[in-house]
Amino acid sequence: MEKFLINGENDNFEIVVGLEIHAQVNSQAKLFSGSSTKFGSKPNENVSLVDAAMPGMLPVINKHCIKQAVKSGLGLRAKINKFSIFDRKNYFYADLPQGYQISQYSDPIVGEGNVEINFPDGTKKNIGIERLHLEQDAGKSLHDQHPSKSYIDLNRSGVALMEIVSKPDITSPDEAGAFIKKIRSILRFLDTCDGNMEQGSLRCDVNVSVRRDGEPLGTRCEIKNLNSVRFVMMAIVSEAKRQVEEIENGNEIIQETRLFDSDKLETRPMRSKENAHDYRYFPDPDLMPLELTDDFISNIKSSLPLLPDEIRVKLVNDFGLSDYDASVISEEKETSDYFFIATEGRDGKIVSNWLTTELFGSLNKNSLSINNSPIKPKQLGELVGFISDGTISGRIAKDVFAEMFETGSDASLIIEEKGLKQNSNSEDIIKMIDNVINNNQDKVNEYRSGKDKLFGFFVGQVMKDSGGKANPKMVNEILKEKLN
Ligand code: MN
Repeated sequence: MEKFLINGENDNFEIVVGLEIHAQVNSQAKLFSGSSTKFGSKPNENVSLVDAAMPGMLPVINKHCIKQAVKSGLGLRAKINKFSIFDRKNYFYADLPQGYQISQYSDPIVGEGNVEINFPDGTKKNIGIERLHLEQDAGKSLHDQHPSKSYIDLNRSGVALMEIVSKPDITSPDEAGAFIKKIRSILRFLDTCDGNMEQGSLRCDVNVSVRRDGEPLGTRCEIKNLNSVRFVMMAIVSEAKRQVEEIENGNEIIQETRLFDSDKLETRPMRSKENAHDYRYFPDPDLMPLELTDDFISNIKSSLPLLPDEIRVKLVNDFGLSDYDASVISEEKETSDYFFIATEGRDGKIVSNWLTTELFGSLNKNSLSINNSPIKPKQLGELVGFISDGTISGRIAKDVFAEMFETGSDASLIIEEKGLKQNSNSEDIIKMIDNVINNNQDKVNEYRSGKDKLFGFFVGQVMKDSGGKANPKMVNEILKEKLN
Protein backbone atom coordinates (compact mmCIF):
# COMPACT_ATOMS: atom_id res chain seq x y z
CA MET A 1 0.00 0.00 0.00
CA GLU A 2 1.14 3.52 -0.76
CA LYS A 3 2.28 5.61 2.16
CA PHE A 4 -0.30 8.15 3.30
CA LEU A 5 1.20 11.65 3.53
CA ILE A 6 -0.08 15.11 4.38
CA ASN A 7 1.41 17.58 1.91
CA GLY A 8 2.51 20.80 3.57
CA GLU A 9 3.75 23.96 1.84
CA ASN A 10 7.33 22.78 1.99
CA ASP A 11 7.47 19.21 3.21
CA ASN A 12 5.43 16.06 3.30
CA PHE A 13 4.45 14.73 6.71
CA GLU A 14 3.47 11.29 7.82
CA ILE A 15 0.85 10.87 10.48
CA VAL A 16 1.07 8.69 13.56
CA VAL A 17 -2.15 7.59 15.21
CA GLY A 18 -2.93 5.69 18.37
CA LEU A 19 -6.48 4.79 19.29
CA GLU A 20 -8.30 4.34 22.57
CA ILE A 21 -11.54 2.47 22.14
CA HIS A 22 -14.12 2.40 24.91
CA ALA A 23 -16.22 -0.70 24.42
CA GLN A 24 -19.23 -1.33 26.64
CA VAL A 25 -19.17 -4.83 28.08
CA ASN A 26 -22.13 -7.03 27.14
CA SER A 27 -23.58 -7.61 30.60
CA GLN A 28 -27.03 -7.42 32.18
CA ALA A 29 -25.63 -5.71 35.26
CA LYS A 30 -23.11 -2.94 35.90
CA LEU A 31 -19.45 -3.44 36.84
CA PHE A 32 -19.85 -2.95 40.60
CA SER A 33 -23.64 -3.04 41.16
CA GLY A 34 -26.65 -5.13 40.20
CA SER A 35 -28.41 -2.32 38.29
CA SER A 36 -29.57 -3.01 34.78
CA THR A 37 -27.60 -1.77 31.77
CA LYS A 38 -30.63 -1.71 29.47
CA PHE A 39 -30.42 0.92 26.73
CA GLY A 40 -33.34 3.30 26.32
CA SER A 41 -34.66 3.13 29.90
CA LYS A 42 -36.25 6.21 31.49
CA PRO A 43 -33.72 8.64 33.03
CA ASN A 44 -32.34 7.42 36.37
CA GLU A 45 -34.36 4.21 36.19
CA ASN A 46 -31.27 2.00 36.50
CA VAL A 47 -29.46 3.62 39.41
CA SER A 48 -28.58 1.80 42.62
CA LEU A 49 -27.20 3.42 45.75
CA VAL A 50 -23.70 2.39 44.64
CA ASP A 51 -24.15 4.02 41.21
CA ALA A 52 -25.37 7.22 42.87
CA ALA A 53 -22.35 7.15 45.21
CA MET A 54 -24.32 7.29 48.44
CA PRO A 55 -21.98 7.47 51.41
CA GLY A 56 -20.91 4.11 52.79
CA MET A 57 -21.96 2.09 49.77
CA LEU A 58 -19.46 -0.54 48.67
CA PRO A 59 -18.72 -1.76 45.15
CA VAL A 60 -19.03 -5.51 44.51
CA ILE A 61 -17.28 -6.82 41.45
CA ASN A 62 -19.36 -8.43 38.70
CA LYS A 63 -17.64 -11.70 37.79
CA HIS A 64 -19.30 -11.84 34.39
CA CYS A 65 -17.61 -8.56 33.39
CA ILE A 66 -14.22 -9.98 34.41
CA LYS A 67 -14.87 -13.03 32.19
CA GLN A 68 -15.83 -10.77 29.32
CA ALA A 69 -12.63 -8.74 29.66
CA VAL A 70 -10.48 -11.89 29.72
CA LYS A 71 -12.36 -13.29 26.72
CA SER A 72 -11.78 -10.04 24.83
CA GLY A 73 -8.09 -10.10 25.75
CA LEU A 74 -7.73 -13.63 24.40
CA GLY A 75 -9.50 -12.57 21.20
CA LEU A 76 -6.96 -9.75 20.81
CA ARG A 77 -4.15 -12.31 21.17
CA ALA A 78 -3.09 -10.46 24.29
CA LYS A 79 -1.41 -11.36 27.55
CA ILE A 80 -3.89 -11.95 30.38
CA ASN A 81 -2.56 -10.56 33.63
CA LYS A 82 -3.35 -12.86 36.50
CA PHE A 83 -2.87 -9.97 38.92
CA SER A 84 -4.57 -6.62 38.35
CA ILE A 85 -5.61 -3.63 40.44
CA PHE A 86 -8.60 -1.27 40.45
CA ASP A 87 -7.58 2.35 40.96
CA ARG A 88 -9.47 5.53 41.66
CA LYS A 89 -9.04 8.15 38.95
CA ASN A 90 -10.00 11.39 40.64
CA TYR A 91 -11.73 14.18 38.79
CA PHE A 92 -14.86 16.23 39.17
CA TYR A 93 -17.84 16.19 36.88
CA ALA A 94 -21.50 16.76 37.75
CA ASP A 95 -22.32 13.40 36.19
CA LEU A 96 -19.64 11.59 38.19
CA PRO A 97 -21.13 11.56 41.70
CA GLN A 98 -18.29 9.57 43.28
CA GLY A 99 -15.79 12.27 42.37
CA TYR A 100 -13.64 9.54 40.87
CA GLN A 101 -13.88 6.82 38.28
CA ILE A 102 -12.89 3.29 39.21
CA SER A 103 -10.43 2.29 36.51
CA GLN A 104 -7.20 0.34 36.16
CA TYR A 105 -3.92 2.17 35.90
CA SER A 106 -0.66 0.48 36.84
CA ASP A 107 -1.87 -3.11 36.54
CA PRO A 108 -4.54 -3.65 33.86
CA ILE A 109 -6.31 -6.99 33.45
CA VAL A 110 -4.97 -7.41 29.89
CA GLY A 111 -1.53 -6.52 28.57
CA GLU A 112 0.05 -6.44 25.11
CA GLY A 113 -1.55 -8.11 22.11
CA ASN A 114 -2.01 -7.60 18.40
CA VAL A 115 -4.67 -7.37 15.74
CA GLU A 116 -4.34 -7.96 12.02
CA ILE A 117 -6.12 -5.51 9.74
CA ASN A 118 -6.95 -6.39 6.13
CA PHE A 119 -7.51 -4.27 3.06
CA PRO A 120 -9.58 -4.98 -0.06
CA ASP A 121 -6.39 -5.26 -2.17
CA GLY A 122 -5.29 -8.21 -0.03
CA THR A 123 -2.63 -6.39 2.00
CA LYS A 124 -2.45 -6.86 5.76
CA LYS A 125 -0.87 -5.07 8.69
CA ASN A 126 -0.38 -5.89 12.33
CA ILE A 127 -1.43 -3.25 14.85
CA GLY A 128 -0.11 -3.64 18.39
CA ILE A 129 -2.41 -3.56 21.40
CA GLU A 130 -0.89 -1.79 24.39
CA ARG A 131 -3.45 -2.89 26.99
CA LEU A 132 -7.10 -3.47 27.81
CA HIS A 133 -8.43 -2.33 31.15
CA LEU A 134 -11.82 -2.31 32.86
CA GLU A 135 -13.41 0.89 34.12
CA GLN A 136 -16.76 2.48 34.96
CA ASP A 137 -18.71 4.67 32.60
CA ALA A 138 -19.93 8.04 33.89
CA GLY A 139 -23.47 9.43 33.85
CA LYS A 140 -24.76 11.95 31.37
CA SER A 141 -25.48 15.67 31.70
CA LEU A 142 -28.43 16.87 29.64
CA HIS A 143 -28.29 20.58 28.77
CA ASP A 144 -31.10 20.72 26.23
CA GLN A 145 -34.10 19.75 28.37
CA HIS A 146 -34.70 23.02 30.23
CA PRO A 147 -33.87 26.67 29.44
CA SER A 148 -31.96 27.33 32.66
CA LYS A 149 -31.22 23.95 34.22
CA SER A 150 -29.06 20.97 33.43
CA TYR A 151 -30.37 17.50 34.16
CA ILE A 152 -28.36 14.47 35.13
CA ASP A 153 -29.07 10.91 34.07
CA LEU A 154 -27.07 8.31 35.98
CA ASN A 155 -28.29 5.26 34.03
CA ARG A 156 -24.86 4.80 32.49
CA SER A 157 -23.05 5.52 35.73
CA GLY A 158 -21.09 2.40 36.66
CA VAL A 159 -21.66 0.50 33.41
CA ALA A 160 -18.61 -1.65 32.61
CA LEU A 161 -16.32 -0.43 29.84
CA MET A 162 -13.26 -2.03 28.34
CA GLU A 163 -10.74 0.58 27.30
CA ILE A 164 -8.62 -0.88 24.51
CA VAL A 165 -5.46 1.10 23.79
CA SER A 166 -3.54 0.56 20.55
CA LYS A 167 0.16 1.20 20.01
CA PRO A 168 0.93 4.15 17.73
CA ASP A 169 1.21 1.78 14.75
CA ILE A 170 -1.51 3.38 12.64
CA THR A 171 -0.30 5.64 9.81
CA SER A 172 -3.37 6.47 7.74
CA PRO A 173 -7.08 7.18 8.18
CA ASP A 174 -7.86 3.96 6.29
CA GLU A 175 -5.81 1.94 8.77
CA ALA A 176 -7.61 3.61 11.66
CA GLY A 177 -10.96 2.74 10.10
CA ALA A 178 -9.92 -0.85 9.42
CA PHE A 179 -8.61 -1.18 12.99
CA ILE A 180 -11.86 -0.02 14.60
CA LYS A 181 -13.90 -2.27 12.33
CA LYS A 182 -11.69 -5.23 13.14
CA ILE A 183 -11.88 -4.63 16.89
CA ARG A 184 -15.65 -4.26 16.65
CA SER A 185 -15.90 -7.44 14.60
CA ILE A 186 -13.78 -9.45 17.06
CA LEU A 187 -15.75 -8.21 20.08
CA ARG A 188 -19.04 -9.05 18.36
CA PHE A 189 -17.86 -12.54 17.46
CA LEU A 190 -16.87 -12.96 21.12
CA ASP A 191 -20.19 -11.52 22.29
CA THR A 192 -18.35 -9.23 24.69
CA CYS A 193 -19.59 -5.91 23.20
CA ASP A 194 -22.44 -5.25 20.78
CA GLY A 195 -20.34 -2.69 18.89
CA ASN A 196 -23.29 -0.37 18.40
CA MET A 197 -21.68 3.02 17.80
CA GLU A 198 -24.96 4.97 17.49
CA GLN A 199 -25.97 3.87 20.98
CA GLY A 200 -22.52 4.69 22.30
CA SER A 201 -21.45 1.10 23.01
CA LEU A 202 -18.22 1.81 21.14
CA ARG A 203 -16.54 5.24 21.31
CA CYS A 204 -13.10 6.28 20.11
CA ASP A 205 -10.49 8.73 21.29
CA VAL A 206 -7.81 9.38 18.69
CA ASN A 207 -4.23 10.48 19.37
CA VAL A 208 -2.73 12.20 16.34
CA SER A 209 0.75 13.54 15.67
CA VAL A 210 2.70 14.32 12.50
CA ARG A 211 6.38 14.16 11.56
CA ARG A 212 8.66 14.61 8.58
CA ASP A 213 10.10 11.39 7.21
CA GLY A 214 12.61 9.92 9.62
CA GLU A 215 12.00 12.41 12.43
CA PRO A 216 11.18 11.27 15.99
CA LEU A 217 7.53 11.22 17.12
CA GLY A 218 5.87 14.65 17.23
CA THR A 219 3.71 16.05 20.02
CA ARG A 220 0.26 14.48 19.94
CA CYS A 221 -3.21 15.83 20.43
CA GLU A 222 -6.12 13.73 21.55
CA ILE A 223 -9.51 14.06 19.87
CA LYS A 224 -12.22 12.85 22.21
CA ASN A 225 -15.41 10.88 21.89
CA LEU A 226 -15.85 10.05 18.23
CA ASN A 227 -18.82 7.81 17.61
CA SER A 228 -18.45 6.74 14.00
CA VAL A 229 -15.69 5.27 11.87
CA ARG A 230 -16.22 8.01 9.32
CA PHE A 231 -15.77 10.76 11.93
CA VAL A 232 -12.58 9.13 13.21
CA MET A 233 -11.12 9.12 9.70
CA MET A 234 -12.19 12.72 9.00
CA ALA A 235 -10.93 13.93 12.38
CA ILE A 236 -7.49 12.39 11.77
CA VAL A 237 -7.09 14.17 8.45
CA SER A 238 -8.29 17.57 9.64
CA GLU A 239 -6.20 17.41 12.83
CA ALA A 240 -3.09 16.32 10.91
CA LYS A 241 -3.54 19.18 8.44
CA ARG A 242 -3.88 21.65 11.30
CA GLN A 243 -0.67 20.37 12.91
CA VAL A 244 1.28 20.54 9.64
CA GLU A 245 0.17 24.14 9.18
CA GLU A 246 1.24 25.03 12.73
CA ILE A 247 4.64 23.43 12.25
CA GLU A 248 5.25 25.07 8.90
CA ASN A 249 4.31 28.44 10.42
CA GLY A 250 7.05 27.86 12.98
CA ASN A 251 4.69 27.15 15.90
CA GLU A 252 4.94 24.36 18.40
CA ILE A 253 2.21 21.77 18.81
CA ILE A 254 0.73 21.99 22.29
CA GLN A 255 -0.36 18.71 23.81
CA GLU A 256 -4.09 19.07 24.44
CA THR A 257 -7.47 17.42 24.26
CA ARG A 258 -9.60 18.54 21.32
CA LEU A 259 -13.11 18.06 20.00
CA PHE A 260 -14.08 17.31 16.41
CA ASP A 261 -16.77 19.49 14.88
CA SER A 262 -18.33 17.28 12.23
CA ASP A 263 -20.18 20.22 10.60
CA LYS A 264 -17.13 22.45 10.18
CA LEU A 265 -14.78 19.47 9.69
CA GLU A 266 -12.25 20.87 12.13
CA THR A 267 -10.96 20.14 15.60
CA ARG A 268 -10.95 22.74 18.34
CA PRO A 269 -9.36 22.82 21.79
CA MET A 270 -11.34 21.41 24.72
CA ARG A 271 -8.84 21.45 27.58
CA SER A 272 -5.09 21.35 28.00
CA LYS A 273 -3.90 17.79 28.34
CA GLU A 274 -3.80 16.51 31.86
CA ASN A 275 -1.07 14.15 32.92
CA ALA A 276 -1.60 10.94 34.82
CA HIS A 277 -0.46 12.57 38.09
CA ASP A 278 -3.27 15.15 37.81
CA TYR A 279 -5.71 12.35 38.52
CA ARG A 280 -4.07 11.25 41.78
CA TYR A 281 -4.49 7.60 40.93
CA PHE A 282 -4.41 5.26 43.91
CA PRO A 283 -5.68 1.70 44.49
CA ASP A 284 -9.35 1.69 45.47
CA PRO A 285 -9.36 0.67 49.14
CA ASP A 286 -12.85 -0.84 48.72
CA LEU A 287 -11.64 -3.39 46.19
CA MET A 288 -9.07 -6.13 46.61
CA PRO A 289 -6.53 -6.72 43.86
CA LEU A 290 -7.95 -9.10 41.30
CA GLU A 291 -6.24 -12.48 41.10
CA LEU A 292 -7.19 -14.91 38.35
CA THR A 293 -6.46 -18.62 38.50
CA ASP A 294 -5.07 -20.61 35.57
CA ASP A 295 -8.30 -22.64 35.56
CA PHE A 296 -10.45 -19.53 35.25
CA ILE A 297 -8.45 -18.38 32.23
CA SER A 298 -8.19 -21.77 30.53
CA ASN A 299 -11.95 -22.34 30.91
CA ILE A 300 -12.60 -19.14 29.04
CA LYS A 301 -9.97 -20.04 26.46
CA SER A 302 -11.65 -23.35 25.72
CA SER A 303 -15.00 -21.62 25.18
CA LEU A 304 -13.74 -19.16 22.55
CA PRO A 305 -15.64 -19.22 19.25
CA LEU A 306 -13.90 -19.07 15.87
CA LEU A 307 -12.80 -15.50 15.17
CA PRO A 308 -12.80 -13.67 11.82
CA ASP A 309 -9.15 -14.46 10.94
CA GLU A 310 -9.68 -18.17 11.60
CA ILE A 311 -12.95 -18.22 9.72
CA ARG A 312 -11.29 -16.53 6.74
CA VAL A 313 -8.64 -19.23 6.57
CA LYS A 314 -11.28 -21.95 6.95
CA LEU A 315 -13.36 -20.50 4.12
CA VAL A 316 -10.36 -20.52 1.79
CA ASN A 317 -9.03 -23.95 2.78
CA ASP A 318 -12.22 -25.94 3.42
CA PHE A 319 -14.69 -24.22 1.10
CA GLY A 320 -12.40 -23.10 -1.75
CA LEU A 321 -13.47 -19.45 -1.57
CA SER A 322 -11.30 -16.65 -2.94
CA ASP A 323 -9.36 -14.56 -0.39
CA TYR A 324 -11.60 -11.62 -1.12
CA ASP A 325 -14.92 -13.46 -0.72
CA ALA A 326 -13.59 -15.11 2.42
CA SER A 327 -12.73 -11.77 4.01
CA VAL A 328 -16.11 -10.28 3.06
CA ILE A 329 -17.98 -13.21 4.60
CA SER A 330 -15.84 -13.43 7.74
CA GLU A 331 -15.99 -9.70 8.49
CA GLU A 332 -19.35 -9.69 10.26
CA LYS A 333 -20.70 -12.37 12.54
CA GLU A 334 -24.18 -12.20 10.98
CA THR A 335 -22.74 -12.83 7.52
CA SER A 336 -20.58 -15.77 8.49
CA ASP A 337 -23.42 -17.30 10.54
CA TYR A 338 -25.65 -16.93 7.49
CA PHE A 339 -23.05 -18.54 5.25
CA PHE A 340 -22.49 -21.56 7.50
CA ILE A 341 -26.22 -22.30 7.74
CA ALA A 342 -26.83 -21.78 4.01
CA THR A 343 -23.91 -23.97 3.03
CA GLU A 344 -24.90 -27.05 5.05
CA GLY A 345 -24.89 -29.87 2.51
CA ARG A 346 -24.35 -27.40 -0.38
CA ASP A 347 -21.48 -26.23 -2.54
CA GLY A 348 -19.82 -23.44 -0.56
CA LYS A 349 -18.49 -21.67 -3.61
CA ILE A 350 -21.93 -21.36 -5.22
CA VAL A 351 -23.44 -20.25 -1.90
CA SER A 352 -20.70 -17.62 -1.57
CA ASN A 353 -21.40 -16.31 -5.09
CA TRP A 354 -25.11 -15.95 -4.46
CA LEU A 355 -24.53 -14.46 -1.04
CA THR A 356 -21.96 -11.83 -2.01
CA THR A 357 -23.51 -10.78 -5.33
CA GLU A 358 -27.28 -11.37 -5.53
CA LEU A 359 -28.20 -11.26 -1.85
CA PHE A 360 -25.88 -8.40 -0.83
CA GLY A 361 -26.98 -6.48 -3.95
CA SER A 362 -30.67 -6.87 -3.15
CA LEU A 363 -30.18 -6.09 0.55
CA ASN A 364 -28.25 -2.93 -0.32
CA LYS A 365 -30.86 -1.79 -2.80
CA ASN A 366 -33.53 -2.14 -0.12
CA SER A 367 -31.35 -0.81 2.75
CA LEU A 368 -31.80 -4.05 4.66
CA SER A 369 -29.28 -5.75 6.90
CA ILE A 370 -28.63 -9.46 6.54
CA ASN A 371 -30.56 -10.04 9.81
CA ASN A 372 -33.67 -8.71 8.10
CA SER A 373 -33.13 -10.59 4.86
CA PRO A 374 -36.43 -11.83 3.40
CA ILE A 375 -34.48 -14.89 2.21
CA LYS A 376 -33.37 -16.96 5.21
CA PRO A 377 -30.08 -18.89 4.99
CA LYS A 378 -31.75 -22.31 4.68
CA GLN A 379 -33.84 -20.96 1.80
CA LEU A 380 -30.78 -19.71 -0.07
CA GLY A 381 -29.20 -23.11 0.53
CA GLU A 382 -32.21 -24.82 -1.02
CA LEU A 383 -32.02 -22.58 -4.10
CA VAL A 384 -28.33 -23.41 -4.50
CA GLY A 385 -29.22 -27.09 -4.18
CA PHE A 386 -31.64 -26.81 -7.12
CA ILE A 387 -28.91 -25.19 -9.23
CA SER A 388 -26.34 -27.83 -8.30
CA ASP A 389 -28.59 -30.80 -9.10
CA GLY A 390 -29.77 -29.30 -12.37
CA THR A 391 -33.40 -28.75 -11.35
CA ILE A 392 -33.14 -25.17 -12.59
CA SER A 393 -30.61 -23.28 -14.68
CA GLY A 394 -28.59 -20.39 -13.31
CA ARG A 395 -30.61 -18.05 -15.51
CA ILE A 396 -33.96 -19.21 -14.10
CA ALA A 397 -32.46 -19.19 -10.60
CA LYS A 398 -32.10 -15.41 -10.84
CA ASP A 399 -35.84 -15.07 -11.44
CA VAL A 400 -36.59 -17.47 -8.62
CA PHE A 401 -34.25 -15.52 -6.37
CA ALA A 402 -35.98 -12.23 -7.20
CA GLU A 403 -39.35 -13.77 -6.36
CA MET A 404 -38.00 -15.24 -3.13
CA PHE A 405 -36.65 -11.85 -2.11
CA GLU A 406 -39.96 -10.21 -2.95
CA THR A 407 -42.24 -12.70 -1.20
CA GLY A 408 -40.10 -14.71 1.23
CA SER A 409 -41.35 -17.92 -0.43
CA ASP A 410 -39.31 -21.11 -0.73
CA ALA A 411 -37.59 -21.86 -4.04
CA SER A 412 -39.35 -25.24 -4.29
CA LEU A 413 -42.79 -23.58 -4.14
CA ILE A 414 -41.95 -20.99 -6.78
CA ILE A 415 -40.43 -23.57 -9.14
CA GLU A 416 -43.44 -25.84 -8.76
CA GLU A 417 -46.06 -23.12 -9.10
CA LYS A 418 -44.52 -21.49 -12.15
CA GLY A 419 -43.35 -24.68 -13.81
CA LEU A 420 -39.74 -23.52 -13.96
CA LYS A 421 -38.07 -26.91 -13.78
CA GLN A 422 -35.17 -27.27 -16.15
CA ASN A 423 -35.80 -29.43 -19.18
CA SER A 424 -33.14 -32.13 -19.47
CA ASN A 425 -35.05 -34.33 -21.85
CA SER A 426 -32.72 -34.89 -24.81
CA GLU A 427 -35.52 -35.54 -27.28
CA ASP A 428 -37.12 -32.16 -26.46
CA ILE A 429 -33.82 -30.42 -26.75
CA ILE A 430 -32.93 -32.05 -30.07
CA LYS A 431 -36.30 -30.97 -31.43
CA MET A 432 -35.71 -27.37 -30.40
CA ILE A 433 -32.22 -27.39 -31.86
CA ASP A 434 -33.40 -28.80 -35.17
CA ASN A 435 -35.97 -26.04 -35.33
CA VAL A 436 -33.41 -23.32 -34.79
CA ILE A 437 -31.06 -24.86 -37.38
CA ASN A 438 -33.81 -25.13 -39.98
CA ASN A 439 -34.96 -21.57 -39.46
CA ASN A 440 -31.45 -20.12 -39.68
CA GLN A 441 -29.77 -21.91 -42.56
CA ASP A 442 -27.88 -18.78 -43.64
CA LYS A 443 -26.27 -18.45 -40.20
CA VAL A 444 -25.50 -22.17 -40.16
CA ASN A 445 -23.59 -21.77 -43.41
CA GLU A 446 -21.68 -18.78 -42.06
CA TYR A 447 -20.82 -20.74 -38.92
CA ARG A 448 -19.59 -23.72 -40.89
CA SER A 449 -17.44 -21.49 -43.07
CA GLY A 450 -15.54 -20.38 -40.00
CA LYS A 451 -17.56 -17.76 -38.11
CA ASP A 452 -17.22 -19.51 -34.73
CA LYS A 453 -18.66 -16.60 -32.81
CA LEU A 454 -22.14 -17.46 -34.07
CA PHE A 455 -22.26 -20.44 -31.71
CA GLY A 456 -23.53 -18.19 -28.92
CA PHE A 457 -26.35 -17.03 -31.18
CA PHE A 458 -27.62 -20.61 -31.61
CA VAL A 459 -27.42 -21.30 -27.88
CA GLY A 460 -29.32 -18.09 -27.23
CA GLN A 461 -32.06 -18.99 -29.70
CA VAL A 462 -32.59 -22.45 -28.21
CA MET A 463 -32.66 -21.09 -24.66
CA LYS A 464 -35.13 -18.41 -25.73
CA ASP A 465 -37.41 -20.94 -27.45
CA SER A 466 -37.39 -23.06 -24.29
CA GLY A 467 -38.33 -20.11 -22.10
CA GLY A 468 -34.94 -20.40 -20.43
CA LYS A 469 -35.72 -23.88 -19.23
CA ALA A 470 -33.55 -26.03 -21.49
CA ASN A 471 -30.55 -27.52 -19.73
CA PRO A 472 -27.79 -25.21 -21.03
CA LYS A 473 -25.06 -27.82 -20.73
CA MET A 474 -27.00 -30.26 -22.89
CA VAL A 475 -27.89 -27.53 -25.39
CA ASN A 476 -24.22 -26.74 -25.78
CA GLU A 477 -23.18 -30.35 -26.27
CA ILE A 478 -25.91 -31.32 -28.72
CA LEU A 479 -25.58 -28.10 -30.71
CA LYS A 480 -21.86 -28.68 -31.15
CA GLU A 481 -22.53 -32.19 -32.42
CA LYS A 482 -25.20 -31.03 -34.87
CA LEU A 483 -23.33 -28.07 -36.27
CA ASN A 484 -19.91 -29.66 -36.74
MN1 MN B 1 -11.10 5.64 29.74
